[in-house]
Amino acid sequence: MKRILLIEDNDLNLKLLKSLLNLGGYDTLHAPDAETGIGMVHKHQPDLIFMDINLPGMNGLEATRLLKAEKISRDIPIIALTSHAMNGDEKEAINAGCSAYITKPINTRTFLTDIKPYVTNHGSDAESIRP
Ligand code: MN
Repeated sequence: MKRILLIEDNDLNLKLLKSLLNLGGYDTLHAPDAETGIGMVHKHQPDLIFMDINLPGMNGLEATRLLKAEKISRDIPIIALTSHAMNGDEKEAINAGCSAYITKPINTRTFLTDIKPYVTNHGSDAESIRP
């Protein structure tokens, strides 16, 4: 089962993301801030990371730059969670190393299809899909 790490400090967004991802057959892990999230990346090697940009303490852009600078985490795709109100976040997220961004509020109808290309075979399931 693919493991997806959610680095998100907003409970409502977190609940929505978790339900959608669990419905899609993904296992989810959660960190409420960037520092905890980076520790969980090292420990659990998730297949994909959702990174909220606006986090308490270190923001999501700084955390993405750190993860992309480290060998252990640089190949894990990161999808930024940006807000409509914060103009320019999308471009900054891509510049920091995110593979894509999703603008909140999340479009629940297309969400699972939208993220599918970014869930890699990196991690636990890699062997089970080989013939
Ligand atoms: Mn936030």
